Amino acid sequence: MNLSEKDITYLHGVGPKRADLLKKEIGVTTYADLLYYFPYRYIDKSRFYAISELNETSSYVQIRGRILKMTLVGTGRKQRVTAIFSDGVSAMELLWFKGTQYVMETYKEGHEFVAFGKPSFFAGKVSIVHPEMETIAEAKTKLSLGGLQGLYNTSEKMKNSFLNSKSIQKMELEIIHSLGNERIDEVLPDYLIQEHHLMSLHDALLTIHFPKDLDTLRLAQFRLKFEELFFIQIEMLRSSKIRSQRFKGMPFEQIGYYFNTFYKEHLPFDLTAAQKRVIREIRADVGSGRQMNRLLQGDVGSGKTLVALMTMLMALDNGYQACMMAPTEILATQHYESLSQLLSPLGVSIMLLTGSTKKKERDQILPLLAEGEIQILIGTHALIEDGVVFKNLGVAVIDEQHRFGVAQRARLWAKNVQPPHVLVMTATPIPRTLAMTLYGDLDVSVIDQLPPGRKPIRTVHRFDTKRADIYEFMKGEIAKGRQIYIVYPMIQESEKSDYENLESGYAKLQHVFPEPAYHIGMVHGKMKPAEKDAVMQEFVSGRMNVLVATTVIEVGVNVPNASVMMIESAERFGLSQLHQLRGRVGRGADQSYCVLMTSVKLSKESRQRMDVMVRTNDGFEISEVDLKMRGPGDIEGTQQSGVALNLKITNLATDGQIVQFSRDVARMVLQEDPDLLMEKNRLINLRLQQRMKEKQNWGVIS
Ligand code: ADP
Ligand code: MG
Repeated sequence: MNLSEKDITYLHGVGPKRADLLKKEIGVTTYADLLYYFPYRYIDKSRFYAISELNETSSYVQIRGRILKMTLVGTGRKQRVTAIFSDGVSAMELLWFKGTQYVMETYKEGHEFVAFGKPSFFAGKVSIVHPEMETIAEAKTKLSLGGLQGLYNTSEKMKNSFLNSKSIQKMELEIIHSLGNERIDEVLPDYLIQEHHLMSLHDALLTIHFPKDLDTLRLAQFRLKFEELFFIQIEMLRSSKIRSQRFKGMPFEQIGYYFNTFYKEHLPFDLTAAQKRVIREIRADVGSGRQMNRLLQGDVGSGKTLVALMTMLMALDNGYQACMMAPTEILATQHYESLSQLLSPLGVSIMLLTGSTKKKERDQILPLLAEGEIQILIGTHALIEDGVVFKNLGVAVIDEQHRFGVAQRARLWAKNVQPPHVLVMTATPIPRTLAMTLYGDLDVSVIDQLPPGRKPIRTVHRFDTKRADIYEFMKGEIAKGRQIYIVYPMIQESEKSDYENLESGYAKLQHVFPEPAYHIGMVHGKMKPAEKDAVMQEFVSGRMNVLVATTVIEVGVNVPNASVMMIESAERFGLSQLHQLRGRVGRGADQSYCVLMTSVKLSKESRQRMDVMVRTNDGFEISEVDLKMRGPGDIEGTQQSGVALNLKITNLATDGQIVQFSRDVARMVLQEDPDLLMEKNRLINLRLQQRMKEKQNWGVIS
């Protein structure tokens, strides 16, 4: 049966309202979509736990017991329900902060229930917050065919309409019932299934939602991961072949005036060995006649900008233009200023184009660009707008690429009939298997060395009760002439409370560092670019002592005299973000410090993160830990790319082997049948056409 043509609205128990929610919240419109909406975790419902058995390490458990007492406390949004729940021997608490009316009406005192959830411990008391509840009758008509039960992610909106994990599970079961005796259409050719001992799609989908046991579950997961990766790899391998057939790279045959003069006469310092090596790699690439498609990884402060500059000079030497795109206005401006300065003795024409470039100026820049009068264009997303046309773009550099979506990179690429050589730079290193999936056949260069003379940043973790001491320390540093960043979390630009924290924090800091003895300023994302620039300028010039900021300063800003960074509510930042932030200090000759400020109440995971930051300055090590702790879904950059790849089951952090395996199989298939015309590959071809229809082919672009 082809389930991708069956509208979810008509599934028993769904209807228009729920269908609408499913579509808007999780992108599910058909039976097939829902079947491919997999549990994110399974809980073992094969037995009941006794309350006395629970301890700090318990994960999800189910407990059978009776509600002894229900209490509703508080009013309005602060309202909550506490239930005393007993298994006949001991008692524990169940807590609800939402849907309190419903909870009070549904879970009556004296009745028996099965409660599921992850127990937490506080002051020796056990509780479960927002447990999943089943009546004994419900528990007996086990939805799961065996002992493992899937848990599904649902959004806040879905939960509010009582569309929770359990309802999703019921829907999955409905779909399976609706099949009757029919089987779900297979998408992989039979010979591959036989050869590699894969589970059929039909069995895999049934198993993934209702696993009999762990072993069968693993087989189902393997099959679905393979399927997911196999088609990506087939697409990637085919498009990279098409690309190299269709586009000859622009051969940069010579190294000439610009590169040589700069290298011999105007380099502000000796290149590190790693910078030299990478420049040689790039040189070989752009001279090869192939189109360069290279990822440059290098820790914060490792000197990627200079490598970018010298790559752009190679383009100029061969009569081409070059451009460099940065994720923020501040960073683009800074690049523009430092590069203009470095290049001024060479007579290179270089311009800046950002969202806040005045229309009049823009109108001057664009024709010059089209005529080839401008040799290097630096900018933000403004570079990829339609009106921006180059005469002959030879090199496109993308700085801090993890901040850009795949689509944005693709548009830069399309600036020429013949795609330019592309250099993407990042300070967020990613493991090879990940790169392989995210970027296909991207080559990777690494700058694994910092410029000489840098003192490692000293990082400490302090509780916010010790804030006064830190201020004293800061004043001491300011007295020595240093400058200071204080960073507030602004995880979601839309979050009002974050702005309130920032504003009130700033107000307090104005008392701690009063004018005229001190000069303090603030930047955040909601300010107008001109205002922001004015403040940044004060800080860059050295006149301002303390800059209070959000993560707008995370990327690339370079003020060597700033030697102290304090990060407020550091526990709210991810590891790579903390590392990026910290990279704003330690750029000069002075000893630099990073203070991670957290509240005393800290989860185990947050504490681990702080410990890693204190222990090491090595971005590669940090990203490894990050990947292990959170999986790639949460890591900036891979998140965007992961979304573009639309990965539903593969975990790129742990499934490296399956990535490799699926790539090998895809390669073998294409070797035998490059255009997939053989009858035995009919299903692959069909599926590819379907995928093409569903989305643009991202594989071509990285
Ligand atoms: P990132 O790799 O984080 O983009 P930058 O390119 O901004 O790093 O370089 C950080 C700082 O190091 C800049 O001030 C730059 O001028 C300086 N720098 C770069 N290369 C060298 C070098 N070989 N020797 C000394 N300083 C360098
Ligand atoms: Mg940089």
